[in-house]
Amino acid sequence: MGLYFLKELFYSIADAFSALRFSFFAKKLSMADRRILQNHFPYYARMNPKFKPEFERKLERMISSKEFIGRGGIDEVTQEMELLIGATLTMVLFGWKGIQLPHFNRILIYPNAYYSTVTKTYHRGEVNPKFGLIVVSWRCFLEGLVDESDGVNLGIHEIAHALKLENLISRNDEYGFLDPNTKRQYRAHMQEEMKQMKAGKFSPFRSNAMIDEDEFFAVVLEYFFEKPQSFQKHRPDFYQTLVHLLRQNPLVVSPPTETSLST
Ligand SMILES: [Zn+2]
Repeated sequence: MGLYFLKELFYSIADAFSALRFSFFAKKLSMADRRILQNHFPYYARMNPKFKPEFERKLERMISSKEFIGRGGIDEVTQEMELLIGATLTMVLFGWKGIQLPHFNRILIYPNAYYSTVTKTYHRGEVNPKFGLIVVSWRCFLEGLVDESDGVNLGIHEIAHALKLENLISRNDEYGFLDPNTKRQYRAHMQEEMKQMKAGKFSPFRSNAMIDEDEFFAVVLEYFFEKPQSFQKHRPDFYQTLVHLLRQNPLVVSPPTETSLST
């Protein structure tokens, strides 16, 4: 019996334990949790019922794999905070089977906009790749979630930043999950849209998108999930490229209701 065999045996036992650990500690959604989602998470509320079990499974895995930490006066992270932030992650990543952004395994939650000693300004949210953090102000997060008609959503914004970074971090399993060809097509659309915006032409995206490529991506993703029908109307080809890049079409997975279509 060689060393190699012992090593293999050790690893297979370790794997079995980590699978067991996951199944013991994985959080399960209760009926109360589903009610919270139904009442406060529009993407889930209007989701085509055939996708709901998949969404719930992915959400359970997502909240089991992240650590939610209160800051700046939030002593206890509530079930609602975990569920709604976890649901936003699950929504943005719904098109993939196992992508969970493991580099960003800690979510910091502040009650309000918070002061950053680094930038000397107030922040609504940020991502910190060095420490693997996604940071959100709970108040700003909720404001973004409640009003879909403005196409502004802090949670989606910060997760979009994390997604783009995770795709570039080569030392983890999720490196390069964005399809390179589709990414190239996306860049062409981005350059075209930015040119239009800078020339003062009409664009549905808010002006923060013009800051740089990262802000453009984050702003566009907010709009993609909150106002997919307006996005598709504005630039069908750009919308379709994002459908391919994120491997989901919100107009199919979570079709807008009559009222939201008419606004
Ligand atoms: Zn940003």
